[in-house]
Amino acid sequence: MAPHLDAVRVERVWSAGGVVRVEARTRELAVACADCGYGSTRVHSRYCRPLADVAVGGRPVLIGLSVRRLFCDAPGCRRRTFAEQVEGLTVRYQRRSPLVQHLVVMAGVLLAGRGGARLLQILKAPLSRTNVLFHLMCMPLPAAPTPRVLGVDDFALYADTYGTLLVDAESRLPIDPWSGRDAEQLTSWLRAHPGVRVVCRDGSLVYRQGISEGAPDAVQVSDRFHL
Ligand SMILES: [Zn+2]
Repeated sequence: MAPHLDAVRVERVWSAGGVVRVEARTRELAVACADCGYGSTRVHSRYCRPLADVAVGGRPVLIGLSVRRLFCDAPGCRRRTFAEQVEGLTVRYQRRSPLVQHLVVMAGVLLAGRGGARLLQILKAPLSRTNVLFHLMCMPLPAAPTPRVLGVDDFALYADTYGTLLVDAESRLPIDPWSGRDAEQLTSWLRAHPGVRVVCRDGSLVYRQGISEGAPDAVQVSDRFHL
C-alpha cells in the first residue's frame, strides 16, 4: 500500500487533529558511511526526524521517523559519525518524503509559483509561492539537444548593454543566453555544438561573421527587412 515505507518498521499509525501520524523506525541494518562507504552498525544515538508525506484520505500525513547516527570505524576516514538515510524515503536536509518533493517540483513546473502553491494546498502539502519557485529553480535543467535550425538575436539588457539569445527555431524553446553580442562567443558556441544546419539571424555583420567561422557549412537566413 505504501511501498516507500517498506524499508522502515512502522510501529504506530493514528489520526489526531485532522493529521495522520505515522511512527516508524529504521531497521538495524548496516549503513554505508556518507564519506568513505564503509558499512557500520555501531550506533552513536537515535533521533526523531519529522517527514511530511503524501496525503491519505484527504488528510496530511506526518511521519516521525527514528533514525540512527552511526560511528564510522573505517581507518583513515575523517568523519566520526554520520546520520543514516533511507533510500526512497529520506534525503539529506529534506523534511519531505521524495513523493511530496516530486509533487512540489511538478506543481512548480506546470503552474509556477502562485498556481503551484494553490494546487499544493489542495493536495494537503502547503508551501508558499516563493518556496515553490525556490524548488523550481533548484531543479537541474535537462541538456538541450543541438538544434537543427538555430535562431540568434540580440536583446537590450539596459541602455546600450546587449545580450544574445539562442533559440531552437523549430521547437521555439530558448537554448542559451549570454551577455554581449560579439562574434567570438557565437563562434565558440557553434564549434562546441556541431550539427546546426540553418541559422536564422538579423542583419548583423557580427553574427554573420560568428556563424561563418563557427559553422561554415550552415545556411544563414535573414529576412528581407534585415538584409
Ligand atoms: Zn567513513
